[in-house]
Amino acid sequence: MPDCVFEEISAHVDRYTPDDRTDRPALGAIRGERGTLLVEGGASAAHLGAFAAELAARGRPPIVGIVLTHWHWDHSFGSAAVDAPVIAHADTAAELAVQAAYDWSDAALEKRVRDGREIAFCADCLRLEIPDRSGLRIVLPAETFTGRHSVDLGGVGADVVHVGGDHAGDSCVIHVPGDDVLFLGDCLYQRLYAPEPLLTIAAVRALVDRLEPFPVAVAVEGHDDGTAGAAAFADRLEELRRAADLVEADAAAASALVAGDEDMEELVGFLLVGEGQAR
Ligand SMILES: [Zn+2]
Repeated sequence: MPDCVFEEISAHVDRYTPDDRTDRPALGAIRGERGTLLVEGGASAAHLGAFAAELAARGRPPIVGIVLTHWHWDHSFGSAAVDAPVIAHADTAAELAVQAAYDWSDAALEKRVRDGREIAFCADCLRLEIPDRSGLRIVLPAETFTGRHSVDLGGVGADVVHVGGDHAGDSCVIHVPGDDVLFLGDCLYQRLYAPEPLLTIAAVRALVDRLEPFPVAVAVEGHDDGTAGAAAFADRLEELRRAADLVEADAAAASALVAGDEDMEELVGFLLVGEGQAR
């Protein structure tokens, strides 16, 4: 598995590819005449710092802000690497305040896994990404919003829109009009903070309805190695809708109907858990 790779994905947008060894998500950078807006704070200061160094090496404009897609550690714990205000949904800010008050020692982390406040997968990845957490500084957002928020970067803008969903209720997407890049964070993924990973019919449908109107040339998902073009993104939404329809129509038969299609099998499986229909 290669390290994170710097990619130009449109005229004004760069991406840093994810790395699943420690669950580092994709990072983004949107640039206008006035500055560069980072998408995600990254999993650690090392992670975000490496991306910022790549941007500086290419002469990108100064970083003027960091916008978060949701509160999860891998998207937010690296913000301290860059001296720029963090912009986030009010619910993201509230959850980060909870995280910032925690003790991040191994012992405290293990205790939270045992009492159900943390999940083992995240704790394991965090220990690998930031082995020494004695100096961990979780940056709280300086600017919060609900609904939507627009950032003017000078000739280029970014629209941050709250979409919610099962993965994290605070999930936001970032759309770059003109380039039509859509950063989805993890919003289309299953909920991990649950006894078993799950999706629900109502949340999947609501999310697909909210995402479909965006004009999309390039879709960036948090932990996908590649990006999706317009057709692939439309297919992704259609698969989610179809899985929800199948589980609603006949939960007992849904798995058999998608047998052999790995993506659909997985989606139907998560939906069966979420609807209390898993066997
Ligand atoms: Zn997440």
